[in-house]
Amino acid sequence: MSKPIVAIVGRPNVGKSTLFNKIVGRRLSIVEDTPGVTRDRIFGDAEWCGRQFSLVDTGGLEPASRDVLLTQMREQAQIAIDSASAIIFVTDLRTGVTATDQEVADLLLKSGRPVVLCVNKCDSVGQPPVEFYEFYNLGLGDPVMVSSVHGHGTGDLLDRVMESLPEQQEEEPDGEIIKVAVIGKPNVGKSSLVNRVAGENRCIVSDMAGTTRDAVDMTIENRHGTFTFIDTAGLRRRSKVEDSVEYYSNLRAEMAVERADVCLILIDGTVGFTDQDSKVAGIAHEAGKGCIVCVNKWDAVEKDDKTMDQMRLKLSEDFSFMSYAPIIFISAKTGQRLDRMFELIKMAAMSNAMRVTTGALNDVLAQAVNRVQPPTDKGRRLKIYYMTQASTKPPTFVCFVNDHELFHYSYQRYIINRIRETFGLDCTPVRLMIRDKK
Ligand code: GDP
Ligand code: GDP
Repeated sequence: MSKPIVAIVGRPNVGKSTLFNKIVGRRLSIVEDTPGVTRDRIFGDAEWCGRQFSLVDTGGLEPASRDVLLTQMREQAQIAIDSASAIIFVTDLRTGVTATDQEVADLLLKSGRPVVLCVNKCDSVGQPPVEFYEFYNLGLGDPVMVSSVHGHGTGDLLDRVMESLPEQQEEEPDGEIIKVAVIGKPNVGKSSLVNRVAGENRCIVSDMAGTTRDAVDMTIENRHGTFTFIDTAGLRRRSKVEDSVEYYSNLRAEMAVERADVCLILIDGTVGFTDQDSKVAGIAHEAGKGCIVCVNKWDAVEKDDKTMDQMRLKLSEDFSFMSYAPIIFISAKTGQRLDRMFELIKMAAMSNAMRVTTGALNDVLAQAVNRVQPPTDKGRRLKIYYMTQASTKPPTFVCFVNDHELFHYSYQRYIINRIRETFGLDCTPVRLMIRDKK
């Protein structure tokens, strides 16, 4: 079951990241627990009253100059509207309601998305100060008094957010639908691919349950199944804020990836792999999604019988962290290999959601340990007692050992690769959590 996304929106310095840390800090996420996750993710796993959600701080951009602030805020709010199930709009008691707050509030209100208004920096408990009442003018209902620094009011805030979320469905109605995010740097052909897919397949207009917003997701049906392409509007829309294009296109990409099961990482075949491509790929990898590398514009690439192998080799060097991802050479223009692409999407979704029984897992472990002895250090040998799968999406395994320091990276890789080979776990990152057994 996919977790709803709750987005924090607000002007610079109102306290968004302080609030984010306060809420996410309540619970350590598996993601943060995993070695190898280096970059600060803008997403955090959170839980309130037994309901899990993904919290995102949309405002990581440096305070902009006055004249671009409003444009930036609009962009930020629009991304939240397009991708989040609920929005926390953070304002600042000390500055009062600003013209920008009013503009953003209007935009949020018009969107029909659930919004909870947070008046932050209400540091003294008790009766609200007179300045507080001004925030009713934003037209977003009862504001919630919060002090992110002290933590006051965050419980009330989260209660309100939970109330505003769409009802939790027991069985996801779209359980069979695979959600796909198309990502890649500008001009690799993301929109062209989505348009091609829309043109070739039966399109079903789709929307998130229970909302009135314009559809930004596109659902199609073909002989491989039903697929939702996420945030197709964002793919067509060009950022209006020139000096922050990269920030907002990354934010969009991260939101799309978060909601996806499988990511298509598009590369421009006429250009080859670049650093920017590997950054984009890193987003999908760290989010733990099924990954497929699509080298696009294959129709326009000058090639001979060696070109594919050369590109495969280059990929394995440049994207070494993603050796599990298959590479496919496609053309959004001619439609070349899009059929194969859908086959791979299906495989990736299955692998990403795969659950392995504890018995089978420990059989593989026993065989692996038999074949290659665990490493030793200063006369002590690593012992792996037991393994079990903690979660799916991505498959995450917990290993109980005598001393995690003996479990060297190369041996971890070896164990993971044995698991991958045995269960056919391709196209997805796999995580290993190591626990010392006392
Ligand atoms: P952001 O730009 O919206 O992410 O804001 P930050 O979280 O970085 O906070 C901006 C400043 O406001 C920092 O100096 C915070 O310490 C301060 N701040 C945040 N929340 C509160 C609060 O509840 N009370 C007070 N007094 N200061 C706060
Ligand atoms: P986006 O910025 O990633 O959405 O890229 P677009 O879909 O806007 O494509 C950028 C340019 O590449 C456009 O001029 C497209 O016509 C061209 N393009 C996209 N896919 C292909 C392809 O498969 N083959 C060729 N030859 N050109 C393509």
